Amino acid sequence: MHPRAIGLIFGFLSTLCPAVAALTTIEEKIVAATRAQAATFADDLERVVRIDSATDNLAGVRQVADLFGVQLAALGLTTRFAPLPPSTGRAGHLVAEHRGTKGKRLLLIGHLDTVLPGGSFRREGSRAIGSGTNDIKGGDLVMIYALRALRAADVLADTQIIVVMTGDEESLGRPLTTCREELFAAAQRSDIALSFEGAIGKTATVARRGSMNWEIDVQGATGHSSAIFSPAMGAGSIYEAARILQEFYTDLRSLDGLTLNPALIVGGTETALDRTSGTASGKTNITAQSTRIRGDLRTVSADQLAEAQRRMEAIVAKNLPRTSAKITFREGYPAMPDTPANRAVLAQLDSVSRDLDYGPITAYDPRARGAGDVAFISPPLPALDGLGIRGGLSHAPNEWADLATVPELVARAALLIYRLTR
Ligand SMILES: [Zn+2]
Repeated sequence: MHPRAIGLIFGFLSTLCPAVAALTTIEEKIVAATRAQAATFADDLERVVRIDSATDNLAGVRQVADLFGVQLAALGLTTRFAPLPPSTGRAGHLVAEHRGTKGKRLLLIGHLDTVLPGGSFRREGSRAIGSGTNDIKGGDLVMIYALRALRAADVLADTQIIVVMTGDEESLGRPLTTCREELFAAAQRSDIALSFEGAIGKTATVARRGSMNWEIDVQGATGHSSAIFSPAMGAGSIYEAARILQEFYTDLRSLDGLTLNPALIVGGTETALDRTSGTASGKTNITAQSTRIRGDLRTVSADQLAEAQRRMEAIVAKNLPRTSAKITFREGYPAMPDTPANRAVLAQLDSVSRDLDYGPITAYDPRARGAGDVAFISPPLPALDGLGIRGGLSHAPNEWADLATVPELVARAALLIYRLTR
């Protein structure tokens, strides 16, 4: 036979049977199981993306929970929907559990809701386009498909795995203690958490910044503008607001990894401000009595958050003549700090990826990643995020997922879960 023909045949065979010498026989069986079921992934994704489950569509969130619940129950997990009180305005969570005693006890995290209303789905080549394809329904399915492959390879038996898919990840319900009770309880009975938010290139997430909203209410004396700067009138609320923001900018910017974003401001004689809009009225010959500012604060650790809050409160308290200001912080997502324990889970994923011939996995820059549910339980749990699907434009129209990456992502998730549960 012509050497080139032999080369072609060899090349063809090696695409059929990639070199996976680093895998055990059972691991090869798991990978084969992920391949065997890959064909239905796109249809399953379409089915769940066609359900509109924006956070405030409580019926839609519930429907997604029911759909995933059936799939997880078929794998032998006990599943239930854990509703949240109506006062929270959130639907609730899907909780599923496989009971066992083997290896590490895992907590697998996904969510049911999307930021934008959804319901539409289309394909363009290997791209699946629609709200939730990437964040996070594609990721939820990567998790379910990995578990299904483990079940098919008969290695799910006696593993201890809890799946929590929250119904309000994109818009957290309050109070937190109520809305994250299920996640906290699951974490207490687990050793390691794996989260299936979008995979970004050949990286995984060992750290996420925390985020918190803040609001400042500034009051000043009011009257005829000609008296501003006088001891009786002082500075007015707008000058005071400008001072506060300028000092935030110069003082807080030096904290490494921190961002502080004033997002919305209204000032004048009368003001009103809600979550996403505000109104103000005033005349040029009247000193501004009221100014309100809203924004967010993102920090890399609980210590940095405390330091930032201390500095912000000190700045707000200084006050120009005849003004006062009050800052309030709204509890938000804690930071997930970069720890050796999280790095150790990353090292496991890195080995899995290399052993599958998909190359090394490195840590993603936490500054570039938004807040997420995994931060509520890590610490204390060692955790890794970014195990979901690859894609883009999350939280934007035309959000997409790359279906071509599914075999890789499902195989590595399955193998990681397998190795951790031995
Ligand atoms: Zn998400």
